[in-house]
Amino acid sequence: MISRPKGTNDILPDEIWRWHKLEAMIRKECACFGFKEIRTPIFEETHLFQRSIGEATDIVEKEMYTFLDKGGRSMTLRPEGTAAVVRAFVENNLKGAGLPAKLYYLGPMFRYERPQAGRYRQFHQFGIECFGSLEPALDAEVIMLAHELYQKIGVKDVVLKINSIGCPDCRPKYLEKLRSELAKYKDRLCENCQRRSITNPLRVLDCKEEKCQEVIADLPHLQDYLCDECSLHFTNLKKILDIWELPYVEEPRLVRGFDYYTKTVFEFCFDDLGAQNAIGAGGRYDKLVEEIGGESTPAVGFAMGMERTLLAVGDKWQKEPEIDLYIVSIGQETKEEALRQLLLARRHGIRTEMDILNRSVKAQFKQADRLDTKYCLILGPDELKDNRVKLRNMQSGEESEYQISEWLGGLKL
Ligand code: AMP
Repeated sequence: MISRPKGTNDILPDEIWRWHKLEAMIRKECACFGFKEIRTPIFEETHLFQRSIGEATDIVEKEMYTFLDKGGRSMTLRPEGTAAVVRAFVENNLKGAGLPAKLYYLGPMFRYERPQAGRYRQFHQFGIECFGSLEPALDAEVIMLAHELYQKIGVKDVVLKINSIGCPDCRPKYLEKLRSELAKYKDRLCENCQRRSITNPLRVLDCKEEKCQEVIADLPHLQDYLCDECSLHFTNLKKILDIWELPYVEEPRLVRGFDYYTKTVFEFCFDDLGAQNAIGAGGRYDKLVEEIGGESTPAVGFAMGMERTLLAVGDKWQKEPEIDLYIVSIGQETKEEALRQLLLARRHGIRTEMDILNRSVKAQFKQADRLDTKYCLILGPDELKDNRVKLRNMQSGEESEYQISEWLGGLKL
């Protein structure tokens, strides 16, 4: 037997309603906030990700699905959404349509990670990207949408963590300090961090290894190195969050796995998920559009992990019935009429099923129950002779008889 690739999932018909519901909530919220959908290719030229995410990040170093196409070009299955959206923003001159540009996307992402609960090699993200302002109001817009969405989805205990990681003016001073501090404790760091302390020292702050955590606890805080502009930006963002009474926790050690972030970074955590508890994250990237070849345009984005969000929802959502009507035919002579009524009902947009396995009447009712139908249309031979049918409301048990041309009027959906 051929199995699915490690770290991937089949989303089965029985659970797809949860995805549809989440997607519908996402689309509704995006419409409410004025974000428009953008769909970009699932693969891009490899150097787009190398240049934007950064060469010395885990994703680019070891997690990308990269391949040569038949023309010998290096392509990569997208590991995240921002780089591709920025590329599309520049290539299609979306700035020309006016700023702010507010975009959203939904779809699969690919990272060659070690699979575990909540961590997959193919997973889905919903993301938003908002272009066009240096003001903290832009960061706040993105954070507010994410917050509101989690509340509506029913993941109320989500914790918002925020931090500022500075800009190219102030961060280098901190990185220099960090490198020299880390050099002192080199022997106490894990192998990965020994390497990162030279190539990308900010990433050390994100290490979960216990021995590294001990070192990290004593390292200087980036916030003490922020320039006036970054510091004011962070203070003003917090003011807006306070006005809206959105709860947040300042997390001075919070950094992200991408090099493109400037100033604000944030994460939404849901503790019940264990190790993989981040259900969404984002930040500001004021230099990325320029780096990808566009005119300098500041921007902020957010991405939600859809699998993890659904794990956080757990069994809080109730499945809605998937059919409205089941046609029960009693005896062979009613089958022809049942077929006519089936087509008629479907043409009226009524979600309808009937038996096509030649089941007994008892088995047909059992199937109707299993499908959780709202109504049964019952075709009995005696009634049919008088052109009459019965309609049973499966919730109340109430049954009424109709002329065959009139039963549709008895449905209350
Ligand atoms: P990132 O793009 O790394 O900022 O991740 C944004 C969100 O995507 C995370 O908070 C997770 O919820 C989700 N995510 C990232 N990597 C994975 C993965 N390998 N499997 C499942 N979800 C993921």
